[in-house]
Amino acid sequence: MAAKLRVATTSLAGCFGCHMSFLDIDERMIELAQHVEFDRSPITDIEHCGPCDIGLIEGGVCNSENVHTLREFRKNCKVLVAVGACAINGGLPAMRNHFKLEDCLNESYIDGMGLENAQIPSDPELPLLLDNVHPIHEIVKVDYYMPGCPPSGDVFWSFLSDIIAGREPSLPYELVHFD
Ligand code: SF4
Repeated sequence: MAAKLRVATTSLAGCFGCHMSFLDIDERMIELAQHVEFDRSPITDIEHCGPCDIGLIEGGVCNSENVHTLREFRKNCKVLVAVGACAINGGLPAMRNHFKLEDCLNESYIDGMGLENAQIPSDPELPLLLDNVHPIHEIVKVDYYMPGCPPSGDVFWSFLSDIIAGREPSLPYELVHFD
């Protein structure tokens, strides 16, 4: 049997919904495990992505830690995939791009309904927020895009099946139309 492909996944400014959707491949996970081993991912607890064949990125880029993680994935993954709307175009978190960062923080921690004696977090260990939320292609080169919010389990399966078989990934229209 061919050597297993090494796959890493991470969530930047995302909701983990794309990761949950990945699990919707259900029993096909058993077949996938015959061809794939996981590097950094929610199921391995590996902190830093090592050399990998495929990197699956959920979420856009909203802070300095996201930038660092994304660059680490790009450096270590032969193929980098933007998974879901947030990675592809910023998605829901990018709605804050219509406002100043300072106004967003004030609304979230000071002025919003039900907030009393709250303060804007300022621990120096917290990652620095960027003024805008960016799609990942604005920071690094992206090889493939997996559309959807989230992409369905069938999209994950179709994409990974193509890669495992050595085919150029080609998502069928019926899996990626949203009308
Ligand atoms: Fe969540 Fe949708 Fe963004 Fe995926 S694309 S991280 S499901 S909001």
